[in-house]
Amino acid sequence: RQPNPAYPASLLMKLSRGHRTLLRGLGRMADKQGVALYLVGGVVRDLLLNRNNLDLDLAVEGDGIAFARRMCRRYRTAATVFDKFATARLRMPSGLKLDVASTRRESYVHAAALPAVEPASLQEDLYRRDFTINAMAIKLNALTFGRLEDPFEGVRDLSAKRIRILHEGSFQDDPTRIFRAIRFAERFGFTIESKTGRLLAEAASTDFVARLSGPRLRNEIFLLLGEHRPSRSMEQLDRLKLLRFLHPTLRYGKAVRRVMDSLSAALAWWEGQTGKRPADIPMLRLMALLSQSGPSVIRAVAQRLQLSSAQAVALSYAEDRTARLLVELSRERILPSEVYRSLAPVPDEAFVLVAAKARVLRRSKAADRVKRRLNRYLRRDRHLRITVDGHDLATLGLKPGPQFKIILDRLLEARIDGKVRSAAEERKLASRMVLEAGKRRQSPL
Ligand code: ATP
Repeated sequence: RQPNPAYPASLLMKLSRGHRTLLRGLGRMADKQGVALYLVGGVVRDLLLNRNNLDLDLAVEGDGIAFARRMCRRYRTAATVFDKFATARLRMPSGLKLDVASTRRESYVHAAALPAVEPASLQEDLYRRDFTINAMAIKLNALTFGRLEDPFEGVRDLSAKRIRILHEGSFQDDPTRIFRAIRFAERFGFTIESKTGRLLAEAASTDFVARLSGPRLRNEIFLLLGEHRPSRSMEQLDRLKLLRFLHPTLRYGKAVRRVMDSLSAALAWWEGQTGKRPADIPMLRLMALLSQSGPSVIRAVAQRLQLSSAQAVALSYAEDRTARLLVELSRERILPSEVYRSLAPVPDEAFVLVAAKARVLRRSKAADRVKRRLNRYLRRDRHLRITVDGHDLATLGLKPGPQFKIILDRLLEARIDGKVRSAAEERKLASRMVLEAGKRRQSPL
């Protein structure tokens, strides 16, 4: 995994043949148009680290949008153009996504605002980036195809396993870099270089982060929570008092940590049972982070991060709703159909959270009961279906009305509880219920 600065030109050999052919073709196109073309940013870092990265970011020293349009004509595809940022996104016929940008400089009118951009040299474009390890480029023009451009000694920092900013005002300009530094340090097992660390702590102690919009802060928090092992990053956020930007009372204490750490086992179990992954892992982890917070804190966090309404509903399960479910599932006497009724409306993420919380309960009979019931529900009860349907009930003489749903639900519950075991028994029970419903209708009371 060691970068090999001695042979940077061979870096592109690590890409697939298809990608290399594409990049060579683009380099020749750039020659024809008289512009310099580079592969930039994270992909260069990951090539040096021997890590896969599927995003190809291109920078054009010149008119990037014109170049992107030319690419579209040549490869018969379309681009989404973001004029304000002089960038375009293309999807190649192979499915590959490519971002093309004009090299530019950025100026920040005030801290945490989105920057104003203007065309500039590659050097300046690299200088506006977050860390030295992300500020490298590979030239694609034919004559120097594969040449590494590393004006800020990114290779040296990669070898030293170090995250370093490019200038002192970096965190102030863009406080999302505080979170990015923690994220990359954790992902690669790097340390944050001492001056960068000092400036990061300083920036964390101001209110710069508070100025970030909901979506920008959410994006950073979700990216952190989406990493392989988020627990250490959360500890860092706690240590640097950055969790206060989600809510002033939020901490990453022992109890929260235990739930967070038990998520992977709960997830593996859930996947084994259902054959699918909950769609939203960062969301699940955010729920774990809030698993000891009250409803008003949870609501405030959902608002601060401007979560969607579906996410806000999932998040509302983070604490008391899952705690109540646990109490219910640990009761000595509860019918399987009651378990079903409680669990059926629970979003996937909340279900996994319940399982994670169950794992951290001290071993006891109650804890065993919870696990058994979760298992039974997932494995068996949620798949059960009844054979009788609304049409059958009508044939049996049931008049249209709310009774249809009530009877069908009760039939399913009877099936779950093993009170009926075959289609014939179901029909028998159904006709008894229809009869009773009819009698109740006719009763003068
Ligand atoms: P990942 O592997 O997480 O996608 P990445 O480095 O590719 O990492 P992106 O967020 O896709 O991350 O950004 C691409 C490049 O854009 C970065 O490598 C960096 O050069 C630059 N960049 C992204 N965000 C910032 C930022 N907030 N400030 C400065 N430069 C940034």
